[in-house]
Amino acid sequence: MDLDQTSEDHKTDQTGGMSRFVDVRFPAKWSTDKDQIERVLAKSIGCRQSNLGEYRVIRKNIDARRRPVHVVWRFEVATIAGRLADVRVPDLQLEALPESAESVHIVGAGPAGLFAAIALIRNGKRPIVLERGQSVRQRRRDLVKITRDHEVNPDSNYCFGEGGAGTYSDGKLYTRSHKRGDIRGALEWLVHFGADPSILVDAHPHIGTNKLPDIISRMRIAICEAGGQVHFGARVIDIHTVDGVLNAVEWEGVATGRRTVSTSKCLILATGHSARDVFELFHSKGWMLEAKPFAMGVRIEHPQALVDSIQYHGEDRGVALPPASYRLVCQANGRGVHSFCMCPGGIVAPCATEPGQVVTNGWSPSKRNNPYANSGMVVQLTAVDWEALGFTGQLGGLAFQRSVEKTCWEAAGQSQCAPAQRLIDFLSGDHGRTSKDLPQCSYLPGVASVNLRELLPDVISDSLAAGLRTFCQRMPRYKDREAILIAPESRTSSPIRIPRDQKTLMHPDVTGLYPCGEGGGHAGGILSAALDGMRVADAVSRT
Ligand SMILES: Cc1cc2nc3c(=O)[nH]c(=O)nc-3n(C[C@H](O)[C@H](O)[C@H](O)COP(=O)(O)OP(=O)(O)OC[C@H]3O[C@@H](n4cnc5c(N)ncnc54)[C@H](O)[C@@H]3O)c2cc1C
Repeated sequence: MDLDQTSEDHKTDQTGGMSRFVDVRFPAKWSTDKDQIERVLAKSIGCRQSNLGEYRVIRKNIDARRRPVHVVWRFEVATIAGRLADVRVPDLQLEALPESAESVHIVGAGPAGLFAAIALIRNGKRPIVLERGQSVRQRRRDLVKITRDHEVNPDSNYCFGEGGAGTYSDGKLYTRSHKRGDIRGALEWLVHFGADPSILVDAHPHIGTNKLPDIISRMRIAICEAGGQVHFGARVIDIHTVDGVLNAVEWEGVATGRRTVSTSKCLILATGHSARDVFELFHSKGWMLEAKPFAMGVRIEHPQALVDSIQYHGEDRGVALPPASYRLVCQANGRGVHSFCMCPGGIVAPCATEPGQVVTNGWSPSKRNNPYANSGMVVQLTAVDWEALGFTGQLGGLAFQRSVEKTCWEAAGQSQCAPAQRLIDFLSGDHGRTSKDLPQCSYLPGVASVNLRELLPDVISDSLAAGLRTFCQRMPRYKDREAILIAPESRTSSPIRIPRDQKTLMHPDVTGLYPCGEGGGHAGGILSAALDGMRVADAVSRT
């Protein structure tokens, strides 16, 4: 029997019962077999299987370094009286706000904005959320129009609308920002609103595009039932101040064009990394902004079966293992090249936010059961890089992003079709070669064969080629004939930081204005944006 084990004693709460945490590593194929699991577990804690008391899994991980693939599960096992104390169920109801509750405006209903709203309600404040996009239901129709008619609604698309960029995403919920807040607490809220409780134990949890919209709309309903407000189709176009102090927020009804000015003493700005007009507004007012490094490149897609075979060493993954993913990082030409936002069993999505541009990203359904595996493959860039190409000033990174997206749009026929190339052709010689034909891929608006080595700026394509060569050396089968690159992956993070005071979390130039989430450069990903939203709401409540 192949098992490794570490354990530590642990006194559980409430009942005072004793339990023990045990990490057990065993072949993945056993993970659906209760009898095998109990045998392994009994052995690992040194008791007979018949004497094994209650146990539960509290963490699940996979160890695919060698064949056979193993899983590493952390169990909590009862040691005294054979019983485990009940799991503490947190109280996650939102109490109705009193009439007198003070209002706080939130711009943006992405993860940062929605979690800020929840935390504000818990702190007795009334959130008024202004969201330029539409509810998840209407938004779905706008997404169909992008794919089918190549029409991009600049207010309702894959990045804008209820739930923000996180709604029609893979819903991966990992973050490296463990110091930034209560990760478990944020996950518990998601479970409260309908996410599968397995996200509380999986080391790499994800929700899936098919499940996220309902979870997000339940959040919105709970916010409104507690006395908060969520306004869709409400695009914020100005922020008014008097002597450096926030005074009002001005927004335009997207459908009516009607402008409303609402007095505001406190505003959380959670507009995400694609709200270019918001950055431009700050710039026009002379409010502080900072250029920030970000990464750009392509989406790369392989058959999922190939990625499974590479990662699981040819072992059939059966029902015990999930569709395989990978994470690749290297230094090439003196800069970082890395995979980004891998979507096993996923789809490459058209994520432009304005007409006249092509942008890609990826999503997966909860079962990750599409036949393709896609991932961003991106190159780290700094202001020096885009300045060398003539994109200068605070908004230089943004202008550079925009120009690459426009170039891709033009190269693929001025539609939502995306320029694409086989990986083997991208890596051919010093300059690549246009693919004679393209493999099947998941990008629904269609792809056009273009030599990306020539299309993308050298600063991206040279490092990308060098990085991909390194990855193909490490994993020779990665250089598969069916592997396709689709361009561009340009919205990995914000090219601009909206600074804030470390203590008050307010913008240095505007008292009462709180930059929040990914758009301000204070988060990267769904979970870290949610954590930042809660952190900012707590800062608001302290003032
Ligand atoms: C297709 C796709 C897949 C992704 N997959 C994952 C994943 O699996 N895991 C992960 O961690 N991250 C993923 N991401 C990234 C993730 O969605 C973002 O990091 C996260 O949503 C950022 O949260 P946020 O609240 O800061 O901003 P956003 O989610 O971008 O929300 C900002 C909101 O502000 C609104 N807004 C903007 N300007 C205005 C204005 N002027 N007035 C009113 N409202 C405005 C927008 O409409 C938007 O709804 C994905 C992104 C995309 C596009």
